Amino acid sequence: MTFNVQGSEARRWTLDIGRGDDGRTPGSEALAWATRYLRQGQIETARLDAEVLLAYCVGRDRTALLGDRQFGLTPTEVACFRELAARRGAHEPLAYLTGCREFWSLPLAVQPGVLIPRPETEFVVEAALRYAMPAVRRRSSCRILDVGTGSGNIAIAVAYSLDSAALVAIDIAPTALEMAQANARACGVAERIRFIQSDLLGALRPRRAGFDLLLSNPPYIAALEWDSLPKTVREYEPRVALDGGPDGLLFYQQLISDAPPYLSESGVAIVEVGDRQAAEVCRLFQHSRQWQVMEIIKDYSGIERVVVAECTHARAHQHGSHRD
Ligand code: GLN
Repeated sequence: MTFNVQGSEARRWTLDIGRGDDGRTPGSEALAWATRYLRQGQIETARLDAEVLLAYCVGRDRTALLGDRQFGLTPTEVACFRELAARRGAHEPLAYLTGCREFWSLPLAVQPGVLIPRPETEFVVEAALRYAMPAVRRRSSCRILDVGTGSGNIAIAVAYSLDSAALVAIDIAPTALEMAQANARACGVAERIRFIQSDLLGALRPRRAGFDLLLSNPPYIAALEWDSLPKTVREYEPRVALDGGPDGLLFYQQLISDAPPYLSESGVAIVEVGDRQAAEVCRLFQHSRQWQVMEIIKDYSGIERVVVAECTHARAHQHGSHRD
């Protein structure tokens, strides 16, 4: 079978997929075709993406598929594979095509309008589990707020790993909240997470018993960086989940100034930061005089990725040293 897939006006590829005697297209040929096609479209992980899409179209596990040298695709499966390969070739994110992304070993549903969880965000979860311990020891529970929950990834991973965690997860986008709620149900943790639509902390009221932890992976892309983002991010992922204002620091500034009344004494904020933002975010925390930076955590690439700061406002009031 021969068909054309048009890329930009400048490119036109003619691609062949053979058809076996049984009327099925051999899987190995389809895979080789899609890999070539994606490579021409400058997709760095061409082979892996082709495998994932093929497995998705035939409804089988990727590794099982690779071990099966004989398998063939029905014409319907070929049509599905061809369409998804073409969309991936146009740089649509793989996770939006399959509707799924793994985070903290949990399969989460994602769709356009919801940020795709990134592996480095798992460092926020790891830190949250550590910093939850004092509250868990003190009163065998931990109250946690997740700001800008998106797919719900952070809140769900924490709830999944820590039975004694009670969470509130907020987001401005209804699409994200619906997805997060569905994900929480699928992961069996919906009973311990309250989802609330809120622009930052706007819809919440400070309480006497505040949150022990505030977690957030806020939008942190600076205006000038926007054009250099990969097409797959810039053109497909929600801008509201990425755009951090002119210098990328807008949401840190707001959280740092707004969050203290919502936190318990010695409450801790754990925030993900962008590449080379950690020092500036630390400075913002220190400068506010309501916070003390506790730790900066590097990701697997050695990038300073997570900033942990303790809210000192309650102690400062007690000692009468707090001035606004
Ligand atoms: N909490 C989600 C994540 O970490 C969404 C973050 C966001 O929308 N900026 O992926």
